[in-house]
Amino acid sequence: MSMSEKNYIHKRDFTLTDEPEQGKNRKERDAPLFVIQKHDASNLHYDFRLEIDGTLKSWAVPKGPSMDPSVKRLAIPTEDHPINYAYFEGTIPEEEYGGGTVMIWDRGTIAPVKESKDADAYFKKAYQEGQLEVALQGKKLQGGFAFIRSDSGDLEGKWLIVKMDDDAADARRKPKSTQSESVVSGRSLEEIEKDQEDGK
Ligand code: MN
Repeated sequence: MSMSEKNYIHKRDFTLTDEPEQGKNRKERDAPLFVIQKHDASNLHYDFRLEIDGTLKSWAVPKGPSMDPSVKRLAIPTEDHPINYAYFEGTIPEEEYGGGTVMIWDRGTIAPVKESKDADAYFKKAYQEGQLEVALQGKKLQGGFAFIRSDSGDLEGKWLIVKMDDDAADARRKPKSTQSESVVSGRSLEEIEKDQEDGK
């Protein structure tokens, strides 16, 4: 387990939150995963997670993804999450770390944009180098996205996510507003919250 994933465990009280404690039993073995979780915490944001090196590398993206290649989205790195987190949708108790409702906004598989003999090795190296090109195959998002870590100025250590200019790029498509519901349950944030209150 990475130090960052230990940090994930340390921040949470698993007797209080339904979030997963461990992430070993992956459900889909064929290709590594991505998930984007819409998280209604103190500020609404989108958590972008990529399965790299046995964990979910994670970023908080305040404005969420854009399909427009001319738009750069700020992505703030957060602690690694266990793979099972890709299956978590529900409400984190208000007083807990990240308290608020979490929706699985999109999920799917990832592959390197450029042909690669060893995708796992590519992702690990590209992540460490802060220059990652990932092709998403999700329900809402498809095509290449570039993740770039900034090494200078106010943005040092933060990342930018940009849609690559390919067939899936579309400046007019606004999946955040036109496809705002969960890809696993079809629920809105309000419905997820209400179901949790009702004990469903
Ligand atoms: Mn979050």
